[in-house]
Amino acid sequence: MKYLSTRSFAQDHSEHKHFCEILLEGLAPDGGLYLPQNYPKIDQATLTRWRSLSYADLAYEILSLYIDDIPSEDLRALCRKTYTAEVFGTSAIVPLRQLETGLYLEALSNGPTLAFKDMAMQLLGNLFEYELARRGEQLNILGATSGDTGSAAEYAMRGKKGVRVFMTSPHGRMSPFQQAQMFSLQDANIHNLAVRGVFDDCQDMVKAVSNDLAFKRKYKIGTVNSINWARLVAQVVYYFAGYFQATEHNAQKVSFCVPSGNFGNVCAGHVARMMGLPIEQLVVATNENDVLDEFFRTGVYRVRASADTHETSSPSMDISKASNFERFVFDLLDRDGHRVKQLFGDQLARHGSFDLGSDPAFAKASSLYGFVSGKSTHADRLATIRDTYQHFNQMIDTHTADGLKVAREHLRRGIPMIVLETALPIKFAATIVEALGVEPIRPEKFVGIEDLPKRVTVIDPDIQTVKNYISANCT
Ligand SMILES: *Cc1c(COP(=O)(O)O)cnc(C)c1O
Repeated sequence: MKYLSTRSFAQDHSEHKHFCEILLEGLAPDGGLYLPQNYPKIDQATLTRWRSLSYADLAYEILSLYIDDIPSEDLRALCRKTYTAEVFGTSAIVPLRQLETGLYLEALSNGPTLAFKDMAMQLLGNLFEYELARRGEQLNILGATSGDTGSAAEYAMRGKKGVRVFMTSPHGRMSPFQQAQMFSLQDANIHNLAVRGVFDDCQDMVKAVSNDLAFKRKYKIGTVNSINWARLVAQVVYYFAGYFQATEHNAQKVSFCVPSGNFGNVCAGHVARMMGLPIEQLVVATNENDVLDEFFRTGVYRVRASADTHETSSPSMDISKASNFERFVFDLLDRDGHRVKQLFGDQLARHGSFDLGSDPAFAKASSLYGFVSGKSTHADRLATIRDTYQHFNQMIDTHTADGLKVAREHLRRGIPMIVLETALPIKFAATIVEALGVEPIRPEKFVGIEDLPKRVTVIDPDIQTVKNYISANCT
């Protein structure tokens, strides 16, 4: 299997790369995102055989269709090392819970940081360590986080050979629980930089440092952001695992509802569907930052300015643009890289939006690819959290609540709807208290983490300060 960029033109195969070549890369050199040349189709016999596999072995089967430059036994060992009951809490790894007939929650948030990003990031940590050792190289991951991504990256990379993490975050702005999660890590290869500023200051500094190509090369600067293909393909696995738990035979279909921000999670659902997993609908749920809902309703993709990006109580979905969305548009436009380049490279840069509403391709988003969408607000979240607690005695987090609210608007008779649970309520305690008047349940291993010693350096939003810190801590 080889990979091409969403902005690559027609039949220029010379540029196509193998998995491990793009593993440590971000964007393709032409500014596009990597996708496989095709999606392997799963036949009925294979689907039936996969039903009885453990999660780790299912992950191996799916990944091996996309990775041909890691020996099979090594890849299987990496999957088995990653997806253990010890790390993810249960042997099912992603257990399904029924709320009512035909409506389920799939638990993706029982990993080390209690958000679904662990599902892919834990594998990425092991893949990075493996590939860097094989090349005899090192990598310094520089990132910016407002919460979930940074902690998932740190817990995935802690103690890994060849990798260091330098994670910037806005000083004093993450929840006390999120700060404690990150800053209590004592591993020598993890560096927390709390920046006196807001998230955008952090992100601007990361961009500035990465744009200094000489510095980037000298200090082997890399990223782990959500456009990384390895993260996306790791997420494909839990769509299969959810389907197998909700059905008994392959003639049955299910729908998934996915709380969405950067379109990484639901894009993995799209890949699973393209592989032949019997998915009826992929329901995209957004919060007040409804870039994606607007597109699936109207065909208009309109990036928001910072001032128009709302701070909400489902903060991990507070995005101004959906960085993985280009992948879906590439498929929607029958893989016309030339047009994708025009839309994302030129038109978006110039006008901040494009409109496919009158393009015949737009209708295929729902008719052929199964996408529908909806939006949820703070009031909806509170009501959904309350209702779910009262009727089903289940506490759900704010992002999952957005998903559940929108899922109910798209239920179809006879087709199970699986809502992806993307975080546990303890991460967003203030809103749970607002909704229920009680503190969220805290998993045992997180009791008292706010009191642990903190390992963090507070800095000004200054590029040279970050560079100095990295060079001083790179030996
Ligand atoms: C990252 C995140 C999301 C959004 O996922 P995308 O892949 O960006 O669409 C939703 N919920 C939680 C809790 C997250 O951490």
